[in-house]
Amino acid sequence: MVGYGVPHESFRVVARELPEIAMGPPFFFYENVAQTPKGVWNKIKSALYEIEPEFIDSKFFCAAQRKRGYIHNLPLENRSPILPLPPLTIFEAVLETREWWPVWDKRQQLNCILTCQESAPVTDRIRSALETSNSNEPSEETKQYIMKQCKTWNMVWTGKNTVSPLEPDEIEFIMGYPCSHTRGHSRSERLKGLGNSFQVHTIAYQLSVLKNLYPRGINVLSLFSGIGGAEVALHRIGIPMKNVVCVEINPVCKKVIQGWWNNTDQKGNLVHVSDVREVTEEKLVSWISLFGGFDLVIGGSPCNNLAGGNRRTRDGLDGEHSSLFYEYVWILKAVRRLMGRKKMHLMWLEKRESEVGTRTNGKNEDLTLRVAVGYEQKLT
Ligand code: SAH
Repeated sequence: MVGYGVPHESFRVVARELPEIAMGPPFFFYENVAQTPKGVWNKIKSALYEIEPEFIDSKFFCAAQRKRGYIHNLPLENRSPILPLPPLTIFEAVLETREWWPVWDKRQQLNCILTCQESAPVTDRIRSALETSNSNEPSEETKQYIMKQCKTWNMVWTGKNTVSPLEPDEIEFIMGYPCSHTRGHSRSERLKGLGNSFQVHTIAYQLSVLKNLYPRGINVLSLFSGIGGAEVALHRIGIPMKNVVCVEINPVCKKVIQGWWNNTDQKGNLVHVSDVREVTEEKLVSWISLFGGFDLVIGGSPCNNLAGGNRRTRDGLDGEHSSLFYEYVWILKAVRRLMGRKKMHLMWLEKRESEVGTRTNGKNEDLTLRVAVGYEQKLT
């Protein structure tokens, strides 16, 4: 799972053929879990211009696995990672654990960070299983039980015979967020937000190509923004954000993004929208007019009905939450259509101007014309 290449890996593709309809700005970037029920990625691909997904495991970027598929129309050449790269092993990422780590636990990296953690009884059971072992080394059966629990719940050794789940601060570090990014919210909310989030270094590597294209900054439509993985990544790459529309239903996530925005002294505008289903063509038109268009439409729609951990409602892309993917699709297509038309309309305006020497007065109610006129006003 190295996609078109990851830092330090020799396999690298720097060119691909995109269908013409998907080429060029506004750029887009879509993410979801790699391991889905059969046929899901084919459906996603066919809704997103038949572009092949790029599957990447974040274990090449940080100390935890995270297998994700990405569909985007970004250029591939000259990608660069955020430096310094974070540690790739548990020992380097969670320093205190080394002292207590038994030799028979061979893990070097963590499994995927989940949205919830084990309950205290598992830790207690592990401790008592180890304490009742007669020798220094527990039986094979005990070891197997412990390893299964540790791997499932990403537990690390924090004392004699003691394993503990990762702390939210440790997860933030592994996932590439600033220290205390989600602080001030309940542990379960923090874990939920972090478990759903982008691994910042992984997506920053893919988005890094935008830096040279937009030295003065970009306008972002961020759908399903969560705790702001996209925004944090763009910031860490060094791409200024001129205007960001964040669409996120969870009020805790919204507070996390707003807090981060304030703390990092962003100069741009941040607009919040609560529900992706509230985004209308009229709203898109007004944002496009106001900002002069979007440069990036980014988001990973909910994976609740796709992820392997969910046995009960793993009913695929048409499941209650995962079907929100189709909202991403229509919004992206509407933005590209409106902006494409905008470009055509600007050309038309220029032509008309040169022919008759007048400009349109902008009273036409047609959405396309309103976009073009708004954009034109912004330029003049
Ligand atoms: N990429 C994000 C997380 C995406 S997880 C990050 O880096 O943090 C999917 C997100 O979609 C969750 O945060 C969830 O709260 C949000 N969501 C679910 N239903 C939504 C809806 N109807 N409108 C907007 N956001 C929604």
